[in-house]
Amino acid sequence: MTIEVRLLPEPQVTCSSCEACCCRLPVMVITDTGVPERYIETSDWGGDTMARLDDGWCAALDRNSMRCQIYQNRPLICREFEMGDYECVAERAAYFATCD
Ligand code: SF4
Ligand code: SF4
Repeated sequence: MTIEVRLLPEPQVTCSSCEACCCRLPVMVITDTGVPERYIETSDWGGDTMARLDDGWCAALDRNSMRCQIYQNRPLICREFEMGDYECVAERAAYFATCD
């Protein structure tokens, strides 16, 4: 008897099934991409970072749509963060583990 082997699909990692987990990470503002001043704060060590609100998400995140409100001007670090990359998968896993 032959047993057919079927691979189960990997759970899909997409931003549309995410809750902007990466927008809870500290984000340094190291180049001028035009981030409005009101979203920037100075850290204890004197560097510019994206401000975060009490809920843990970046101040520039629209809480209703969970999308970046300053997408065209987002910091370099946000531009380089890749969906499906190691950090993305790790952040999603850590965030969703807190929701269980
Ligand atoms: S890049 Fe990754 S962690 Fe960020 S919103 Fe998309 S799926 Fe979520
Ligand atoms: S600037 Fe935009 S993409 Fe970057 S962490 Fe804030 S909301 Fe997310």
